[in-house]
Amino acid sequence: METFSLQSTAIADTLLLNRALTRMVIRIIVITLALSLPACLHAGETGHSTWGYDGDHGPLHWGKLGPESSLCEKGMNQSPIDLLRTRKTTLDDIQFSYRDAPFHVVNNGHTLQEVEPLSETAKSRYPKHGQTVLHFDKDSTIVFDEDLYLLEQFHFHTPSEHTVDHKHYPMELHLVHHNERHEVAVVAVFMEEGKHNPFFETFLEHAPTKVGEVMDDHNHSVNPITLLPERRSYYLYSGSFTTPPCSEGVIWMILHDPIEVSAEQIQKFRALVGHDNVRPTQPLHKRFVLETNFANTNTTTATKK
Ligand SMILES: [Zn+2]
Repeated sequence: METFSLQSTAIADTLLLNRALTRMVIRIIVITLALSLPACLHAGETGHSTWGYDGDHGPLHWGKLGPESSLCEKGMNQSPIDLLRTRKTTLDDIQFSYRDAPFHVVNNGHTLQEVEPLSETAKSRYPKHGQTVLHFDKDSTIVFDEDLYLLEQFHFHTPSEHTVDHKHYPMELHLVHHNERHEVAVVAVFMEEGKHNPFFETFLEHAPTKVGEVMDDHNHSVNPITLLPERRSYYLYSGSFTTPPCSEGVIWMILHDPIEVSAEQIQKFRALVGHDNVRPTQPLHKRFVLETNFANTNTTTATKK
């Protein structure tokens, strides 16, 4: 009994400490964001046709594109990173509430992305900075750290941008969200070679082949919940967009478990984009990477809606 209570006190202390650490990291993320993210609200994957992934326009030259992209070179909180030295702790579950939406797939030359429709209320208020109202019942959202984030778009990279012990997965999915203060949270999912993925197939079938093209299909709907693994445990760190202007203050939540797509599907995606679309990993500097501690939690499996 004595041993038990001592152990529980120790566990409770560790939990409290971990919680405090998580809060601290989130506070740092939010402060960094307030300092570094003026009006850059988009995923950083649109509107910059002067950059690319090769030669003079490649990632090593993004910082020279202009003053708005200087963080690509000078930033101290850049993404992607290698996920190796992590601090294991108790992390709150990310609460996903994704809805069906019609296909609206864009080929912007850098990737293929599905742009999520906003509810009329969100749309009408969105341009007025700081006044966006997010509606749970109409929009795809996540709740993280007691804050509601609206899904803006999702897109894919090949190979993966984040690495685990310097190992790339064949692909990585980025689900880009923002809250009503326009703070950005990206949920990333690794994609490994395995079973054929019917959802990804439908996405590929709707992919425009030419740069600048958009494919709309109101007869088919898409629900990105289908692209999440069963277990939703994750890594958490503060980073940036992985494309110019490399704005910082982005909350990154990278799920541990990859999803499977077939070798043929990876090939199909590569052929559609026509090139690798990956930024090299960036130095961690003094940042922390937190990781769900499996010893402390068994509640990370969320039910699919
Ligand atoms: Zn991305």
